[in-house]
Amino acid sequence: MAINWQFYHWHLEPSAVCTLKCPRCPRNEHPDTPWLNKNMTLEFVKKFFTEDMLKNSVKRVTMCGDVGDPIYCKEYIDICRYIKLTNPNIHIFTITNGSYKKSEWWREFAEVLDERDTINFSIDGYDDASNNLYRINSDFDSIIQGIRTVRQYNKKVFLNWATIIFSFNQDHLTKINTLAKDLNMDSVQLTRSTKFGSKYGGYGGVNDPLEPRIEFISKSHRYERETINISERIQDNHEYLEHNQKKWVEIKQKYQDKPIIPLCEIGNRGIYVNAEGVLFPCSWTSFPYTSLTHKNKTINWNDSFFATHRNSMNLNLHSFDSIINNPLWNQCSQGFSDPDKTWVECGQKCSADVVDQNYAVGWETN
Ligand code: SF4
Ligand code: SF4
Repeated sequence: MAINWQFYHWHLEPSAVCTLKCPRCPRNEHPDTPWLNKNMTLEFVKKFFTEDMLKNSVKRVTMCGDVGDPIYCKEYIDICRYIKLTNPNIHIFTITNGSYKKSEWWREFAEVLDERDTINFSIDGYDDASNNLYRINSDFDSIIQGIRTVRQYNKKVFLNWATIIFSFNQDHLTKINTLAKDLNMDSVQLTRSTKFGSKYGGYGGVNDPLEPRIEFISKSHRYERETINISERIQDNHEYLEHNQKKWVEIKQKYQDKPIIPLCEIGNRGIYVNAEGVLFPCSWTSFPYTSLTHKNKTINWNDSFFATHRNSMNLNLHSFDSIINNPLWNQCSQGFSDPDKTWVECGQKCSADVVDQNYAVGWETN
């Protein structure tokens, strides 16, 4: 049984480049990551985003790197323009720290997007000093200028201010909300993370100065998020949402009484291509961790499927069809039903109880 791939939600890492030095980012924890600083090109993207794929299957593309930020991809606007010109109904969801791009760049980007699209600005602080406590080397002024420019040239695109809760901002969430409102943004998203609590290997635990109070740390091995709407704009992404709902019912039924509800098959987690060109069912399985443990099983990154098979799954080396039909994927999908074969990554992120719990509280998709 190979993975039951879905193609309506994709997740790309357009660039593995970033100017920031967030301490928990894999680009800083794993400076030996082999695809660090690589970029996607439009020519490469066309290998899997054929006209047929874009017109007939894709509903949403999440643009977010494991080890880089999409806005530093040299051909990022060209890639987005190609997607939107081929199928304007596709929802492009860009996740960025927002620093250092000039107003002209933001204007050009804003003019490619429409009311279906989202730019998610990951800003943890409320001024330059506080934002630099975790988003080290970020530039608050250029972020704010970027947001203002986008809104000046595009009144419809959705703008989300995304904040991870830390000790330095936990008592300033109202201030963040007010700033976002003043910038005419649409929502504020608050994340209770797993990466800054005692759950994450190598972290300083409760003695770390960034550690928030316990109520701001995720209770599971997956982050918890809530979004507060602050504008009257209504986002038109019903095609994506309808697909998601349909798949949720179908896949939940298929995996009734199984240990895993695979979010890759539902499409909450997009089919993932990293900046090196490697294809994965989701970005959780590509993430360059050091080691992960779940229910007495531990996996080291160097022994993981990703580290072992990345050349076999590289779209620069093989066709899209041959990669998705590669029988090696059985090693992943067998674990959805058989607890003895479940990958640690899948057990942590997509255990039936974790998925159920998060859906019950209105859990979000990325
Ligand atoms: S902004 Fe994103 S890609 Fe850049 S260092 Fe921070 S977490 Fe990593
Ligand atoms: S962690 Fe495993 S089950 Fe979950 S989305 Fe990724 S591949 Fe699928």
